Amino acid sequence: MKKSEFGRWSRVAAEWSEKYLADIEQLPVRAQTSPGEIADQIPLSPPESGETMESIMDDFARIVPEGMTHWQHPRFFAYFPSNAAPASMIAEQLAGAMAAQCMLWQTSPAATEIEVRMVDWLRQAVGLPEEFKGSFQDTASSATLCAVLTMREIALDWQGNQKGLSQQPTLRVYASTRTHSSIDKAMWVAGLGQENLVKIETGEDFAMDIAALANAIRTDRENGMVPAGIIICVGGTSMGATDNVREACELAKAEGLYTHVDAAWAGSAMICPEYRQLWDGADLADSIVFNPHKWLGVSFECSAHFVRDPESLVRTLAIQPEYLKTYGRDGIINFSEWSIQLGRRFRALKVWFLLRAYGLEGLRTMIRNHVTWSKELCEQLKETPDFEITTEPILSLFTFRYVPESSSRDEEDLNRLNLQLVDAINDDGRIYLTQTNHDGKLVLRFMCGQFDTTEEDVAVAFEVITSVAKKLA
Ligand SMILES: *Cc1c(COP(=O)(O)O)cnc(C)c1O
Repeated sequence: MKKSEFGRWSRVAAEWSEKYLADIEQLPVRAQTSPGEIADQIPLSPPESGETMESIMDDFARIVPEGMTHWQHPRFFAYFPSNAAPASMIAEQLAGAMAAQCMLWQTSPAATEIEVRMVDWLRQAVGLPEEFKGSFQDTASSATLCAVLTMREIALDWQGNQKGLSQQPTLRVYASTRTHSSIDKAMWVAGLGQENLVKIETGEDFAMDIAALANAIRTDRENGMVPAGIIICVGGTSMGATDNVREACELAKAEGLYTHVDAAWAGSAMICPEYRQLWDGADLADSIVFNPHKWLGVSFECSAHFVRDPESLVRTLAIQPEYLKTYGRDGIINFSEWSIQLGRRFRALKVWFLLRAYGLEGLRTMIRNHVTWSKELCEQLKETPDFEITTEPILSLFTFRYVPESSSRDEEDLNRLNLQLVDAINDDGRIYLTQTNHDGKLVLRFMCGQFDTTEEDVAVAFEVITSVAKKLA
């Protein structure tokens, strides 16, 4: 393909994309393919000579969409959303044209400076104080790993990177039993080990028991171990479990521990002031991550990572002589020193396009609608015989299960029945839901968060859930 053909094929791609999005409701939300079906259509070896764009594009249209689960589908109610608003997709194309590589200020002054601004726009949007600075990382998993590494280095007086961990005291990190698996993985990768992630039981409110946390810290100190930090969960993946951020941060301060808030999904909702009580006290944390690529419409990947003290993050991650490890010296920021990877994408561009194209008020309306419709559906299911709400809505996420009058009520049978139900719903194709294990019960999650979802789509969800369930019984 020649450079001179770029415009033509971009237009073909744009037209394909526009039609795809216009017709997306006709597609089953979850891919209906069996394993291997797509791979079988791709040659085993690469071509020796170039092929025409016509045939490449034809194969794409023939093979790929059918093998995809459609995250942009307005009836995607599974997992958490991964939205790509049109303005954000356009920005991605432009960033691609420039082959932007944003590791240093020098390699991308505009990208770096727009990133500084966009992180600050988002900071204001979610109501965090001015001292928080930050960067856009690929995913929350990476931001959490960076936070765990920072905890480690602070606790080891900056010796971990240099000397390794074999001669060091045992470090301990605390989190609730309901946190995301990315916390466990961060512990593995940081070399701290699964066993040193102390999982604290949660109370009836699904929040970490602060007295138990204080106890665990004290016991660890008595046993010669070194507490390093606390990971605080806001809007956990399974059912939205949320810790008491203020109490956890106050305890951390008293104990001299670093705190990281994982608000990967729920953080986007903090653009609405009325939901901010959910993370009340977040302004006391050392590090916070949330994913604009989940609920705000910024296309994947884009995680906003805020830190109160960039110095400690940069001191942990910058491979530089000590005297240069100063954040923002001479007005220059090299964002590769804020994350694991050296090369970085121009993520700020899509945030800039998105925030300007929809405005905070437009995004707030979307999020408020999702929360309202989810609550309405929850109420409707509550009033429907044979359905049980297992956890009440946290923002736009709740869980429920099917407990028909005729069923045996044996927990194992109910789990089996509900797994059958979620499979049958997803085979039907009109909506997509996922299940979770909530305290031993297999329950269905309903999460409303797709950019184009309407109230009618949520009504279809009610129809599908109840009619498919009736057929099962
Ligand atoms: C989605 C999610 C993550 C992981 O996010 P990635 O950006 O995919 O790494 C972590 N924590 C919570 C609570 C999440 O919802």
